[in-house]
Amino acid sequence: MTALRGLLRGNAAVNMRTAGRWISSVAAESGFSFPASQARQGVAPRRDPGSRNVQWVFLGCPGVGKGTYASRLSRLLGVPHIATGDLVRDELAATGPLSKQLTEIVNRGQLVSDEIIIDLLSKRLEDGVAKGESGFILDGFPRTRRQAEILEGVTEIELVVNLKLREDVLLAKCLGRRICSQCGGNFNVASIDIKGENGRPGISMPPLLPPEHCMSKLITRGDDTEEVVKERLRLYYELSQPVEEFYRIRGKLLEFDLPGGIPESWPKLLRALNLDDHDEKQSAAA
Ligand code: AMP
Repeated sequence: MTALRGLLRGNAAVNMRTAGRWISSVAAESGFSFPASQARQGVAPRRDPGSRNVQWVFLGCPGVGKGTYASRLSRLLGVPHIATGDLVRDELAATGPLSKQLTEIVNRGQLVSDEIIIDLLSKRLEDGVAKGESGFILDGFPRTRRQAEILEGVTEIELVVNLKLREDVLLAKCLGRRICSQCGGNFNVASIDIKGENGRPGISMPPLLPPEHCMSKLITRGDDTEEVVKERLRLYYELSQPVEEFYRIRGKLLEFDLPGGIPESWPKLLRALNLDDHDEKQSAAA
């Protein structure tokens, strides 16, 4: 753990020449184990069958749809979708002191400590490596500039997709979000139809309703209340927006304004990512 603690104290700006050695020591001592072939030095980056190096990050406010689009792309590209929010919720579902501590933090809309998040992420990556996974689409990490620096210290991020939606829509989407407590499926009962005005385009997003058998099992996330969503949005602007700038100045940021619901947005996102030549893949991921 020593190396990881050092890293969390601010060693993220490690000299590139020593990065390879440092990664090994981090991996050995802390378990912060981006697989060797995903690490930034010494070994060629992993590539998907289409020769893309898929080490991507999805940024965007709560409720924007990071999970929806990241999971579709992960199926399309054959790389894991790793959402730190899901890792945290798995932890909440367990019993024990960590679960109690995390529930309080998450239900207040606050961020979990870097130590806990990195620990959860490291374990998830290690499990993935053991199963032969390669590449990743991260969703919900990095969420602070410090987390972005830590990530940069251990691996090369190829692309950062910044999803954007107006704030009234974000709020409506969070309040309409429902999860099936049995199958884990994500749905949304919000019906959004905002007319354009004063040169601002309108936006229409039909609800994403669950199948009949999920209807009676729908639950709402504890942090999707109006008060908590507003706090999560406030924290996003304060702590996570600087991450957009972090990647913008590195030339990695792809800004994407969602034009509407999935049927409208998905093909446009594929075009923006130069993935629209795979018609058969589009239908496979839908
Ligand atoms: P999400 O599903 O991404 O909205 O995440 C749900 C909650 O998990 C957040 O409100 C935070 O409390 C926690 N969380 C997820 N990812 C992170 C992160 N990278 N850093 C700190 N806390 C996180």
